[in-house]
Amino acid sequence: PNDASPSAPRAFTRSVGDLFGELGLSLDAHQGSALTVTSPIDGSTLASLRTDSADEMDAMVARARTAFLDWRAVPAPHRGELVRRFGLLVREHKEALSQLLTIENGKILTEARGEVQEVIDICDYAVGLSRQLFGMTIASERAEHRLTEYWHPLGVLGLISAFNFPAAVWAWGTTVALVCGDGAIWKPSEKTPLTALAFAGLLQKVAADYEQAPENLVQVALGDAACGIALADHPDVAVVSATGSVRMGQDVGVRVQRRFGRPILELGGNNAAIVTPSADVALALRGTIFAATGTCGQRCTTLRRLIVHEDIRESFVRRLIAAVGTLNIGSPLDEATHVGPLIDKAAFDGMQRALDAARSQGGIVHGGERIEQAGSPEAYYVRPAIVEMPGQTEIVREETFAPILYILSYTELDQAIALQNGVSQGLSSCIFTRDVLEAERFQSALGSDCGIVNVNIGTSGAEIGGAFGGEKVTGGGRVSGSDSWKNYMRRATATVNYSTSLPLAQGVKFDL
Ligand code: NAD
Repeated sequence: PNDASPSAPRAFTRSVGDLFGELGLSLDAHQGSALTVTSPIDGSTLASLRTDSADEMDAMVARARTAFLDWRAVPAPHRGELVRRFGLLVREHKEALSQLLTIENGKILTEARGEVQEVIDICDYAVGLSRQLFGMTIASERAEHRLTEYWHPLGVLGLISAFNFPAAVWAWGTTVALVCGDGAIWKPSEKTPLTALAFAGLLQKVAADYEQAPENLVQVALGDAACGIALADHPDVAVVSATGSVRMGQDVGVRVQRRFGRPILELGGNNAAIVTPSADVALALRGTIFAATGTCGQRCTTLRRLIVHEDIRESFVRRLIAAVGTLNIGSPLDEATHVGPLIDKAAFDGMQRALDAARSQGGIVHGGERIEQAGSPEAYYVRPAIVEMPGQTEIVREETFAPILYILSYTELDQAIALQNGVSQGLSSCIFTRDVLEAERFQSALGSDCGIVNVNIGTSGAEIGGAFGGEKVTGGGRVSGSDSWKNYMRRATATVNYSTSLPLAQGVKFDL
């Protein structure tokens, strides 16, 4: 980092200042003392930033509203052109953006590159969408009448994002909202503001050069929950998309609903895999290990529960524990690393508390210990934990945002499905089986109750074309994919009479 003392370990090949320079951006206007940004790689300080006050939030929303009023009049394919140019710029700077993301968030480089690729992919998706925002005509019961449904731009999007996907979640919502004709304000996690300033800075640069884009179309609000609350409460923020913990979603959802705004909530998961006796064991092991340990267990779709058939439990778990023991744990900038650090000490303490609770609830814990890095006492690296549980106890039903995989077992498939569904969260699920009846049952109305239902693939790593999100306390929202663009638009139903008479609907007579 920029200000590391000479004796501090120099984990980074590039400083944040260099990376911003390469992007043609500067942090100068954002410097301050309110928000200290640290790297989970070694705990060092990356930057000190200013934050936005409540008054500034008000002014920001007013600017976004003014931008929206102009932007909604720009034809949607021309709005898509802005996103196309942004996607090209992200492609050009993919490596610098990936490095920055890894330095600030701690995910391994290949996953950071995957996240930047997801931003690029969603740009392509949104550009195509800009020519496919379609309504429909509906059969009218009256002669010489036309009934039509239109989709119009909605207003200002307030997007609150979590630390673990510091760029992709914003891009899912923002690129789609922009082609839909909305203005956008981003409140990133206070743990990853630099990634936000980099991505939003590139989009702002592109917008400044695009004559059809109004000023202040895309803005960033820096700060903690208070900034998010300001967006949730503001009557001029038409749609609030919030990704994060269930606790945050409960607060934001109620605030937005109270003023009849539109909430999109993407909250916590407690995702399970069922491994049946017919499964391809080698494939199930690979899928399970990546899903359970990728991003150091800090994905909303991380695999947290493994429900394995009694007959294969012992051998499967033995192989799983052995495989986890071979993972390389260390700096995420090292290409050979499989598992980088947890985001901070609070995440480490939460993991240890959960492991203690699991032990007291009858669990046998394998791994889970801290792996100290010489010279970096403020970095929190851990060996992922495999925990054999006697049943689905209280701690297993909670989402602990760390690499802990609880092992449960079953004898009948419906029992496994009941365990899989027996938690309050409903984000992602999967089954490993080569039995077509089991695979179909799992996907059916009698199967998994989650928003994501995979077969012979782990719970994480969704593609952008499909709607992403989950049910129950996961919030029910869908930020992007499939037809979720409709969340960023308002529907208008128009009835046109092209006859010279005035028949009333439902045969009502009203003769004068
Ligand atoms: P978090 O809830 O602590 O914070 C998320 C964001 O919400 C941050 O920007 C934070 O400042 C803001 N915030 C917190 N409280 C708020 C409030 N009361 N009002 C308004 N804004 C508020 O979550 P985190 O620790 O950054 O992320 C981890 C959580 O996010 C996990 O539970 C994970 O499952 C979830 N997540 C879900 C998805 C999904 O798509 N379902 C994706 C990524 C992360």
